[in-house]
Amino acid sequence: MQIKTIIEPFKIKTVEPIFMTTEEERKVFLKNAHYNPFLLTSEQVLIDFLTDSGTSAMSANQWSGIMNGDESYAGAKSWKRFEKTINDLTNYPFILPTHQGRAAERILYGHLGGKGKIFLSNTHFDTTRANIEFSGATAIDCLTPEATDTSLELPFKGNLDTKKLVQNIEKFGKENIASVILTVTNNSGGGQPVSMENAKEVSKICKNYGILFILDACRIAENSFFIHEREKGFGDKTYKQIVQEMFSLADGCVMSAKKDGLANIGGFIALRDKELADACTNLLIITEGYTTYGGLAGRDMEAIAIGLEEVTEPDYLKYRIRSTAYLGEKINKLGVPIMLPVGGHAVYVDAKKLYPQIPVDEYPGQALVCELYLKGGIRCVEIGSVMFGKYDENGKLIPAPMELVRLAIPRRVYTQSHIDYVIEVFEEILRTKNKARGLKIIQEPKFLRHFTSYFEQN
Ligand SMILES: *Cc1c(COP(=O)(O)O)cnc(C)c1O
Repeated sequence: MQIKTIIEPFKIKTVEPIFMTTEEERKVFLKNAHYNPFLLTSEQVLIDFLTDSGTSAMSANQWSGIMNGDESYAGAKSWKRFEKTINDLTNYPFILPTHQGRAAERILYGHLGGKGKIFLSNTHFDTTRANIEFSGATAIDCLTPEATDTSLELPFKGNLDTKKLVQNIEKFGKENIASVILTVTNNSGGGQPVSMENAKEVSKICKNYGILFILDACRIAENSFFIHEREKGFGDKTYKQIVQEMFSLADGCVMSAKKDGLANIGGFIALRDKELADACTNLLIITEGYTTYGGLAGRDMEAIAIGLEEVTEPDYLKYRIRSTAYLGEKINKLGVPIMLPVGGHAVYVDAKKLYPQIPVDEYPGQALVCELYLKGGIRCVEIGSVMFGKYDENGKLIPAPMELVRLAIPRRVYTQSHIDYVIEVFEEILRTKNKARGLKIIQEPKFLRHFTSYFEQN
């Protein structure tokens, strides 16, 4: 008999308490946080779905690596291990350690960018776009049109639209394209995967035009799981082989180790070309650190090296993708509108569909974020008009295209009963959905307002 239940492929050795709170207490906490859960302290939160970045639980092996970290300034053992592991996965000869993903982006895209330069991607993640635009260059997303329809169930909604890619290259001239960046999985698009076929096409186009092809590899292991499951010809390959094959198509990568590195901090650049690597190394030494530690302690490099080995283990990936899908499928079945299919690291709820009575200028996504906290102590983030809304010259809101709420699942942190608890909270959310109230912003900063804005309930 084949047992079908997929279980957490680990036992728990160290525990961290969750501070239990009542709805009455949470009412006060939320009011004091001005209805913005970013302003809550972590002790006021039961289940923290704010982000999957840097929030992974490390393994006993990684913790032992932390103790074994070699903190020598140059040529540390931990650096050698870090370099060898990344080299083995990517087959790129030049590895540059950074303190996190955006530092790698600042160095590489800062060097490649500048006024008049164009970057093309399936979707530029927000720090990617910010670093490109900060250099004076322009970032253009080339996502397939199907990808923005939340109800369409397609296997690879993260794919880069190769037609748009070629059109943009022809329009701006290949000499002005600084690089093509393929983000796997596509974080901003809901953690949707990119197929190997798509990566191959992108690679071919870049080779034909002589354009640099970079992978944003933050979740390349999660992406490999979807390729293994959904793409013809990959069912017999290991996840690691799939990851290696995808790296083989590109000229280099940028990676935040806070996601599929299973570490709490870290990142790196890896490149094939010596000249480009030398230019980046100069910037690395000026702003991050010497070449054999960059922005990292030796112990961090140990933890990342071990994390990168663990992340392609079949039992881990099966559990990881299944547990994200489990939450999405269960709440969808209850009647909660979500983005389909469920991606790798998060479930996105369509708050506009859930709360049709709340107009977009009263932020239905933020209303759901507040309800989830009040009803269950669950913290998550609005990805809608609070995050992306702008004002016209009359001060009227120009809303974002979608009003989503992201439930990002930290890796190896919560058990199935935690997730069952969240599902039960959603039952309550549905029962009381007609009572949910919109909000108004009473104080906001100029940039990235979702982090620090104050709200009031209507
Ligand atoms: C998180 C992330 C980054 C930036 O990495 P940090 O470590 O947070 O600086 C870049 N790209 C993608 C796709 C990400 O998810």
